[in-house]
Formats: sequence, structure tokens, C-alpha cells
Amino acid sequence: MKPKIVIAHRGASGYLPEHTLAAKAMAHAMNPDFIEQDLVLSKDNIPIVIHDIYLDDVTDVSLKFPDKKRPDGRFYVIDFTFNELKTLQVSERFNPKTGVQVYKNRFPKGVGNFTLHSLEEEIVLIQGLNKSTGKNIGIYPEIKEPNFHKKEGKNLTEIVLKTLYQFGYKTKEDNCILQCFDAKELERIRVELKCELFLVQLIEFEEETKQLNHFSSYANGIGPWYKQLLDKKVNGKFTFTSLVTDAHKLGLKVHPYTFRADDLNEFSTFEEMMQTLIVDANIDGAFTDFPDKVVTFLNK
Ligand code: CA
Repeated sequence: MKPKIVIAHRGASGYLPEHTLAAKAMAHAMNPDFIEQDLVLSKDNIPIVIHDIYLDDVTDVSLKFPDKKRPDGRFYVIDFTFNELKTLQVSERFNPKTGVQVYKNRFPKGVGNFTLHSLEEEIVLIQGLNKSTGKNIGIYPEIKEPNFHKKEGKNLTEIVLKTLYQFGYKTKEDNCILQCFDAKELERIRVELKCELFLVQLIEFEEETKQLNHFSSYANGIGPWYKQLLDKKVNGKFTFTSLVTDAHKLGLKVHPYTFRADDLNEFSTFEEMMQTLIVDANIDGAFTDFPDKVVTFLNK
């Protein structure tokens, strides 16, 4: 693995609706090291590439299947067969309550011929592009909400691992990084299921940053929120928490999320964000909606 890697977050999602095959093909052309897949099961147990267990913030499901919403008002991937999911139009992300597009300068909402697809379909695309371009771009799948799946009587992890193994992703040398927010599940993947893939423990909550020792017993890296790396500004300069150095001491790689050129928060430019986190904070990889920009930065 390169010293610093670029992970195309949901594909080239800054330019095309997230997790569409178009966004993945565009990402592949931008030369990231990995392309990300978030995974949720369909009713008929097919791993679908989609960010949430819900359908109503990235598709027209509420128009096509108005009767299939649950009492909480949401539409769930797991209530639809693969064939039903294939009839939905995928859109740029929007707020399902207001209909307002989340990132207003991105691809227009509600237009374009985009559909959902399976993990298998995406691997076929990436491996095919690797062959036709001579590149070797990896995959970076995420097991989404394993507890939700369990409550629904389904085992997402086992099904995903079977698919990965079928396509030749078996060890740390096979250009596949498996990620999960659920620490118990990721530990189970290593210890109980004896998975030999490169594993990344995603970190959501501040208190989890204190559990690096335990994470290093089964994972090869962590995926924190980038804000967990930043400390106070001193004389106008960013200072850093000990998260990256602590992780490195334990042999863990650090791949924070998410680098968005159109959502800069504490940074004045995307260049400043990349310089601060990639160079100054010394991370090992970045999840980004704009893989072209991070690849260009790293090539300089
Ligand atoms: Ca993800």
C-alpha cells in the first residue's frame, strides 16, 4: 500500500449521484487507490451498494412504492427485492422531508438515468476497468448497521464476505479494505470468522478514540471523523490531538472521513484542508468526494 492513499468516497460523489455505477466509473478514471462501497441487504439477501438502510433520500421510492413505507415514514432497502430496487431512479442526495438537495452545487437532483446495483455488479465494473486500463484500483466495502440486519433476521457480514472471497478478495494483499463502525462486529469478523482482509475500524464517537489499544488487537487501521484529529488553533495555526501518533505507535493506519471541497467548515480552502490533515497531521489516507483533487494534491 502507498504511504498515503486516496479513497473515492461513494465514488466520485462530488460530481455524480453517490454510489451510482457512473460515479464509480468516473472515480476509476481519476486514479484513486480505492473506491468505496457501503452495503445493505435487499429483501432477497443481495448486498446493495447504498449509504443508508433507507431509500427515500436518494431515490424516487416514495412516488413508485408509496404503500411500502414503515410506520416511521421511511422506506427501507430491506423491504424491497433486488428486482423492485432496480425499478427506482437514483438521484443526487436530498432531504426527504423538504425535498431540498443536500449539496446544492452538485449534480442536479431527480434527473438522469441512474439505478441501484449490487456489490457483485460493482466489483465486475471495477475489475473490468482494472483490466482494460491496466490499473489496479482496490475496493473499500463497508458493512452497514449489522445490528439492524440481525434484528431483521439477516446476516449481512457473512453474505458480503462470501461475495468478496468469490471475486478473489481474501487477504491483505488482495487490494480490499473492509470497514465497519460496529466494533463488536469488526472484531467478530477477525476473530470468529477468521477473515484475513485489511480491516479498518470506523470511529464515530469521541470516547472510541480512547480504545485504540483494543482496536489494534484485530484491526489494521482506523477511520475517524477528521475533526477528531484537530485540537485548538494556536496563533492562527491548527494543532492536533494525539490520535494519529497514538494510532501509528500501535501500527494502525489512519484514514479519516470526509474530504469535501464544497463543505469546508473550519478551513478556508480545500488546499488548506488537505495540507493540514494529509501533510501536517500525517494521516495515511483520505476518504473524499473529490478524488481528482486529492490525487492532484498528492502528486505535487
Ligand atoms: Ca461509508
